[in-house]
Amino acid sequence: MSFTELALSPEILAAVERMGFEQPTPIQEKAIPPALQGQDILAAAMTGSGKTATFLLPIMQRLQGKPRGTTRALVVAPTRELAAQIAEHLRELAGRTGITGAAIYGGVAMGPQEQAFRRGVDVIIATPGRLLDHLQYPYAKLNSVEVLVLDEADRMLDMGFLPDVRRILARVPAKRQTMLFSATLPEQIVTLADDFLRNPVAFNVERKSAPASGITHTAYPVPQDLKSHLLLAVLKQAASPNVLTFTRTKHRANRLADFLERRGVATARIHGNRSQAQRTEALAGFKAGRYRVLVATDIAARGIDVEELGLVVNFDVPHLPEDYIHRVGRTARAEATGDAYTFVSRDEEGELHAIERHIGKSLPRRLVEGFNYEKRPEEKLEVPLAERIAAIRSRKREERGRAQANAERRTAQGLPPRSGGSAGTGGGPRRNSTGSTSRSGGAQRVGPGMAWLRQANADASRPGETRRPFGRPPARAGR
Ligand code: AMP
Repeated sequence: MSFTELALSPEILAAVERMGFEQPTPIQEKAIPPALQGQDILAAAMTGSGKTATFLLPIMQRLQGKPRGTTRALVVAPTRELAAQIAEHLRELAGRTGITGAAIYGGVAMGPQEQAFRRGVDVIIATPGRLLDHLQYPYAKLNSVEVLVLDEADRMLDMGFLPDVRRILARVPAKRQTMLFSATLPEQIVTLADDFLRNPVAFNVERKSAPASGITHTAYPVPQDLKSHLLLAVLKQAASPNVLTFTRTKHRANRLADFLERRGVATARIHGNRSQAQRTEALAGFKAGRYRVLVATDIAARGIDVEELGLVVNFDVPHLPEDYIHRVGRTARAEATGDAYTFVSRDEEGELHAIERHIGKSLPRRLVEGFNYEKRPEEKLEVPLAERIAAIRSRKREERGRAQANAERRTAQGLPPRSGGSAGTGGGPRRNSTGSTSRSGGAQRVGPGMAWLRQANADASRPGETRRPFGRPPARAGR
C-alpha cells in the first residue's frame, strides 16, 4: 500500500514525502483509514512503529479545512520528552498546512504555554500534571476538542497518572473521537478504554508487545564493577557514531557520564534530576553529534527519537521487560536496523531471563574481544548510599562552619547578620566530594564472579554461534 491510497490531502501527502516516508508502516496502514472516518481507535502499538504519524495525519486531515484559532485536538502523553517529540513531529508534518501545535509540560515556565492556550493552537500535546495546572485557570479551554489521543497509556498507568487522565477526560466534550495507544494492554487500560472509547476499532490487541524486528540483541556478561570499562571498550570498537546507554538510577547515570567525560568521551545525560533546559540541550546536542554518548534513565526513554541511532547499550538490565522493549526501541526506528547490547552482571541474570521469556527468544552471550575481564577497576562506579550520605553530611558541616565564621566576622566588624541564614555559597569543592576512589593493592584474585563469566564465555562459544565484530549488523536477506 502507498500513502496515496489513504485519503489524505495533497499538502499532507507532500509532507509525508518530505519526511521520506515511502509507505505506511503496518499500524498506519490499518489505523489511518478508520481514524480518517472519525472512528475511535484502540491500538497496541509498539514504540518505533510509526504510531505518532498514525494519529497526527488523521488529526491534520480533519483540521485542515477548519478555521484556525481554536484548540480542536488534544494529545496526552506521559513524559516531557515524548510530548516535545510529538510536537516536533507535528511541526515537521504540518509544513504549509498552517496547522499549529504546542507542547505543554512541567519544568518550564507556564507563561508561554498560557499564550498557546490563549492563541488557540490547533493541537495541544500535554503531560497530565501540567495540563491540570493550566486547567485551573479560565484561559485554558478544552471545550472545542474534537479529537483526543492518549499516547503510551500503559506508561501513564505505570507513572500513576490514570486518575489525572480521568480528570482531564472529564473536561473534554463527550462527543469526540478518541484514540488510545499503548505498548501493552493491562487490565486497567482495557477498563479505561471501555469507559471512554465508543466502539473502537482495535488492533494487535491479542499481541504481546515486542521489540521492532530490525534489532539485533546481544548480551554481554560482565562483572558489575567492570561495566564502565567494558562500555569504553565497546565505544572504541563500535561503528555507530552515536550511542544511547541506559542506567537504572540517576546516580549511576551521573557517575557513568562523569567516568566517560574524564576519558574524553563527549557525553550528555538525561534523567529526572535534570532541568528541562538541560534535558533539551542534551538531546539536541546528541542529535547534532556534539555528544557521542547519551546516558539516560528509563523515565526519559520514551521520548528519545534519534534518526539512525545504530546502538543502544543497556548498561544495566532493566527491571521490567517492557522497559527493555522501550529502551531498545530507540534504535531500529520504523523498520530500520540497529544493535541492542545488554551488559549483564551475575545478579542481573534473573531479570535478563524474564526479558528473554517476554520477547520469546534468548539473547546470545558474547564477550568483547581484547577486553581484560580480569582487570580490577581503580574506582567504584557506584558510591554506596551510606558513603554518599556521610559525604553530604560532612559537606553540610563544612558549610555550617563557614556560615558561623562569616557571621562572627560580620559581628566583629559591626555589620548586620545576613538574611536567609544559608551559608556555603562560596565556591568550595561541591562535586565529587564523595571520594570515590578506593584502590586496593595486592594480587589479582579470581573470585566466584569470574567462574560465572567463564561459564558464560563457554556458552557464548557454543558451536553454531558466530561472533560478530561490533558495528552495524550484516545485511539480512529480505530487508
Ligand atoms: P513513532 O513510533 O511514532 O515514535 O515513530 C518512529 C519513527 O518512525 C519516527 O522517527 C518517524 O519519523 C518514523 N516514521 C513514521 N512513519 C514512518 C513511515 N511510514 N516510514 C518511515 N518512517 C516512519
